[in-house]
Amino acid sequence: MDILLKNLTLIDGTRRAPQENAVLVIRDGKILYAGASSGWSGSQEEVVNLDLGGHFTLPGLIDTHVHLAGSGEVDSQFRSESGAMALKMLSNAQKNLAAGITTVRDLGGWNEVEFVVRDWIQRREFPGPRMSLAGRFISITEVGADYYEGMYRVADGVDEIRKAVREQVKHGADWIKIGVTGAVLVEHGEPGLTHFNEDEIRALVEESTKFGRPVAAHAHGVDGIHKAIRAGVRTIEHGTFLFQDPAVIQLMAEQGIFLIPTLKVGWDIILAKDSNIPAWILEKNKATQGEAELSLKLASEAGVPIAMGSDVGTPLNFHGENGLEIYWMQQAGMSAIDALVAATGNAARALGWDSWLGTLETGKAADLIVVDSNPLEDLRILADQNHLQFVMKEGQVAACHAENDLPPALFAEQVLLIR
Ligand SMILES: [Zn+2]
Repeated sequence: MDILLKNLTLIDGTRRAPQENAVLVIRDGKILYAGASSGWSGSQEEVVNLDLGGHFTLPGLIDTHVHLAGSGEVDSQFRSESGAMALKMLSNAQKNLAAGITTVRDLGGWNEVEFVVRDWIQRREFPGPRMSLAGRFISITEVGADYYEGMYRVADGVDEIRKAVREQVKHGADWIKIGVTGAVLVEHGEPGLTHFNEDEIRALVEESTKFGRPVAAHAHGVDGIHKAIRAGVRTIEHGTFLFQDPAVIQLMAEQGIFLIPTLKVGWDIILAKDSNIPAWILEKNKATQGEAELSLKLASEAGVPIAMGSDVGTPLNFHGENGLEIYWMQQAGMSAIDALVAATGNAARALGWDSWLGTLETGKAADLIVVDSNPLEDLRILADQNHLQFVMKEGQVAACHAENDLPPALFAEQVLLIR
C-alpha cells in the first residue's frame, strides 16, 4: 500500500527552494517520489491519500549532538539509579521524536544504559527516534571525570586509549567520542587547553577506524582542534575558539570535516531568569558565547560543512526544544536555508547516513515533519509544537497532534501524542 501526501510545500533538505503544490509518495517506509504533482504518474498499488492543505513538509530533523542522560539539570549532573536512568533516557528520546527530531546522535551516555534504550526502540518495543551512540566520553585523567561519573571513560596513554575504544565498540557504539580539550561545563575546566597528546589522539582514531567507527572530537581550543583534524576525526564538537586560526578553518573546509557548533546551550544559560544556575556555569558561558558565534560564522563562510547539534540534556537545554539550535545558527550568520540543511541533509552526511537519510528524495527513508507555516521565515517554529502537525518515521505517523484526524492506516502501532 502506497501513501500519497499531496498539496504540500516541499522543503526537501537539500538547498533547493520550497516547491509548492508538490506530492510525496511513500512505499515500504521509503520515498518513492518527491516533487511536482505533474511529475507523478499515479500508483499501481492501493493508495492512502492525504491532502496537506499546502502545509510545509520537511525531512525529520537530525540532532547530531544530544545527551539522553541529562534532562537540563541546572548543575549539569546526570547521576541516577540505573532503572530510573533507563526510563529517563527513554522519556528524553521520546521528547525528541515528538518534537520532530527523528534521529539523534548521543555523544556521552551513562553506564551503557543508552544501548539498552536504543535496542528496545529498534525492536519497536517503544516509540523513539533513530539513535546513533558513542557510549562514553573518552577523557584524560581530569576533574570532569568525577563530575560526570558514569559518562566519562578515563584513559591515559595509547594502550589505555585503545582499550577504551574497544570497550565502546563492544557495547555497541556507532561512534567514538574523545574529549580533546577541556570543557565549559566542568568547573575549573579550561576549554582552550589541549588534554590528549597527539600520539594519543592518533591512536584513538586509528583504533576506531579499524572497527569502522568515525570519531567525534569535543574540542574548544584551536590547538586541540588542529591536532584532532590531523589525526583524522570526522566531526568537531563546539569549535569555540576556531576563530583564532583561519588556517585551521581552511583545513576543515578542505577536508570536509564537520563543525557542530552547539550554540543553544549557551543561550539557554545566559538568557535564563531566576534559574539557580551555578555562577561558574553562567560566567563561563557568557565569556565564550560571542566567540562560538564568530567561529561558526567564519567557518560557514569558509565552506566548512556544518551540522546541527543542540547538546540537549545540558543545563536548561531541554529535550524537544532542539530545533532552536537551527534558529541560533541563523542568528550567528548562516542563511535560513543553510541552517535548515545543517539539521537535515548535512546532518545525515555528518553521520555518514546520507545515502538513505536526511533529504526527501527518491529512495531515502520516509522520515518527515509537517508544519503549518514557513520555517524559512521564522526558524523558531521548528521548536514550537503548536506549529507541528505530525511526525512520520519510516512512513508511519509516530507522533501526532491529538486532535488531528489522519487516516488510521498511516499510524505506527504506538504513537506519541504531542499534547
Ligand atoms: Zn555534549
